[in-house]
Amino acid sequence: MAGEPQADCVFCKIVAGGIPATVLRKTDHTIAFRDINPQAPTHILVIPHAHYANAAELAAAEPLIAAELLAEAGEAAREDGLDAYRLIFNTGAGAGQTVFHAHVHVLGGKPLREGMV
Ligand code: AMP
Ligand code: ZN
Repeated sequence: MAGEPQADCVFCKIVAGGIPATVLRKTDHTIAFRDINPQAPTHILVIPHAHYANAAELAAAEPLIAAELLAEAGEAAREDGLDAYRLIFNTGAGAGQTVFHAHVHVLGGKPLREGMV
């Protein structure tokens, strides 16, 4: 069922505490933790507890939690000392999505290239 934990999902396992993560922030609906393979000095992921395949599906089903995800991304960036950062939602394997549990990447801590790709 939509939103229910998936046995084969690495981020559901992090939510359940079955896989360790460097957790920075936690709310009733979201968790922010460090990406295991950082692409910038700050590389944080913020995920909903509930399993949705991508950000658009999360927003369609749970708009308040999607908004909380964005607010938490901003708070995590601020707590890591960033005043400039980039949020990325990869959606679909062709766009580089490898974990099919909605997440936002928070990237910063070095000058980010201008442009979108
Ligand atoms: P995406 O390519 O947008 O699906 O992003 C998935 C991200 O999850 C990648 O940047 C991975 O490095 C990260 N990742 C995968 N497994 C873990 C894990 N166990 N802990 C933290 N980050 C992870
Ligand atoms: Zn999941």
